[in-house]
Amino acid sequence: MHPLVAEYIQKTCVLFLLLPSFIWDTVLYFSMLYKYHARKVVDTHKDRVLHVQNQVKNWRVEGKGRKMCTARPSWKSVSQQKLGYKDKMYRVEVELDHVIELNSKDGYVHVEPGVCIGFLNKFLVRQGYTLPVVPELDTLTIGGLVMGGGIESTSHKYGLLHHCCIEYELVTADGSCVTASEENTPDLFFAVPFSYGTLGFLTSVKIKIIPFKPFIKITYRPTYSLEEAMVVFDKETHKGSGNDSVEGIMYNLKEAVIMTGQFVEKEEVEWDLVNNMGHWYKPWFYKHVQTFLEKGKTVEYVPTLHFHQRHNKPCFWLTPLWAPWASSAIGRYLFGWLMPINIQLLKYLRENLLGLDTLDNFVLQDFMLPIQHLEEGIKLSAALTDIWPIWMVPSKLHADNTPVEPRGGKVIYIDLGVYGVSFRKDFRGRDATLRAFEKFTLEHDGYQALYAETLMNFDEFKEMFPPTLYDKVRASLPFCEEAFPNVYQKVSREGRNGVMNLNNKKDN
Ligand SMILES: Cc1cc2nc3c(=O)[nH]c(=O)nc-3n(C[C@H](O)[C@H](O)[C@H](O)COP(=O)(O)OP(=O)(O)OC[C@H]3O[C@@H](n4cnc5c(N)ncnc54)[C@H](O)[C@@H]3O)c2cc1C
Repeated sequence: MHPLVAEYIQKTCVLFLLLPSFIWDTVLYFSMLYKYHARKVVDTHKDRVLHVQNQVKNWRVEGKGRKMCTARPSWKSVSQQKLGYKDKMYRVEVELDHVIELNSKDGYVHVEPGVCIGFLNKFLVRQGYTLPVVPELDTLTIGGLVMGGGIESTSHKYGLLHHCCIEYELVTADGSCVTASEENTPDLFFAVPFSYGTLGFLTSVKIKIIPFKPFIKITYRPTYSLEEAMVVFDKETHKGSGNDSVEGIMYNLKEAVIMTGQFVEKEEVEWDLVNNMGHWYKPWFYKHVQTFLEKGKTVEYVPTLHFHQRHNKPCFWLTPLWAPWASSAIGRYLFGWLMPINIQLLKYLRENLLGLDTLDNFVLQDFMLPIQHLEEGIKLSAALTDIWPIWMVPSKLHADNTPVEPRGGKVIYIDLGVYGVSFRKDFRGRDATLRAFEKFTLEHDGYQALYAETLMNFDEFKEMFPPTLYDKVRASLPFCEEAFPNVYQKVSREGRNGVMNLNNKKDN
């Protein structure tokens, strides 16, 4: 089928996906609540871990030279590429999606890796807590976020999601269940993040929680040149204790809105400035923010849960590609209550029913750059793609006591999110564009998000993600090298396409 015809069919199908999407998300949320409360009566976590252990022990008998991966189907992962490697590997069911315990005394929540971040956050908020870092998009799982990196506009303060984790439970390749913490097994503990499921199967995580404040006071600061945007963004990021949240959206090479926020109690709210931006009929976040380019500096109080979910409905600014009608006033009033479209169901439609490949001029990449290289990164993206808006969110990548120092040292990194379709007449094509981004990121001590497409060769990948600790841990874990591919084998194009030989014997 011609790609443009398939895209047209997809846009039509999306309308019919809204109701199933809504039902799917509602059922999942209530099933999580049910499991949490049922678990208070019967503790089944150990049984589910045992099921993983038994399958891993069977791999030694039945694996026949294949390596292992989770049995989670490709369409459930947000990675845009089909995970072709799964077909050739020994797949282990890691069906663990319960909240095990909320321990307010010691300040953590103990969860299984299949729990989705949006559901977990809603659950915590009901009990008066939240996570220090609440990544966007409700369907991202705790397992995926630990293994692949999870960021939010609070990350300049708390780091990535894994910096808020205090313990991991894993089933390793010999079938044993180990607990990794900074005190007991620091090497394993620090090697798990970004290991992308290649050290063992994650079966539970303990994550720090913080008290929930019901509102956030957001200040929107429009800027009118790239230089001004960089100065304001840098100043607000490095402000010290003042800002709980820092985020920027560049609308073009000149115009941006830099947003900062402080979480506040109800008593501190100025009620005439409240914006319930999460209500179904409200303009989408990035559209709303854009209005401040005309209105000037503005302050709003937004319910914190609405703030956490602000990029959900527009999927940053990707939803208009699938549902161009959805952001209009009529679209919002008629269908807004059914939004967001579940990304997994959309991927199922694309991958399994329409057989759609990504358009050549579609870009969906995140690059983490040391803050001093941000301006250059934006100019590069403008020259290569001219895709707008661009998302900017600062993060600490370093943590106390960690043996893994970021390549750029203890500086703030900025996640530069380039999402959309390039309409540049001189667009070089997806691969050449991605190669140019990768070269720039490598040369400027940056990182490329693992969920996205990687065209780097193995040497370049190792330069970007120095594997010293990772290799040491893989060598120390029993059967790890035979049991799991390395990260590159999972994220490189050949790996994801399933054409790379990942197994210990030649593929048939
Ligand atoms: C449209 C889009 C928007 C995004 N927005 C954000 C955002 O706002 N903030 C953010 O931080 N990130 C964002 N991401 C990136 C996202 O956080 C990462 O891609 C994350 O890894 C995906 O989570 P997932 O649940 O889909 O994981 P998956 O893709 O299913 O898993 C990622 C890897 O972890 C492994 N894994 C998962 N669970 C286990 C387990 N139990 N045991 C062993 N291995 C496991 C998988 O095998 C896989 O290799 C976005 C990505 C996309 C495509």
